[in-house]
Amino acid sequence: MNDCLFCKIVGKKVPAKIVYEDDQCVAFDDISPQAPIHFLVIPKRHAASVAELGAADAGLLGHLMLTGGTVARQKNIADDGYRFVINTGKFGGQTVFHLHLHVLGGRPMHWPPG
Ligand code: 5GP
Ligand code: ZN
Repeated sequence: MNDCLFCKIVGKKVPAKIVYEDDQCVAFDDISPQAPIHFLVIPKRHAASVAELGAADAGLLGHLMLTGGTVARQKNIADDGYRFVINTGKFGGQTVFHLHLHVLGGRPMHWPPG
């Protein structure tokens, strides 16, 4: 999608600190980290949010989560634990409408979230 920020990161038209890439997804550090480690895992294919996905995308969604876990291990936050977040829609707090999995770690997380 031409005017989508994260599609531009996938296409290398907007710079990002990419920490992992394969044929289906890209992971990069969040520009405004909310924890010592905070990166995003996104599908290369544009989808606005998880609400757009269907049964055919189960493998893709699983791949994003498994990739989040792999990169978390590479960044040495796996042993202490980390949090996955997928903000969805207005009440979910989503601000960038290209599906992304947040992975946050390096400090204890609070519950309930705000
Ligand atoms: P959301 O609020 O949609 O769940 O999360 C969007 C995330 O994208 C935010 O954590 C925000 O800091 C991050 N973000 C927004 N613009 C950029 C950018 O240009 N580069 C990177 N690396 N992260 C971005
Ligand atoms: Zn996009």
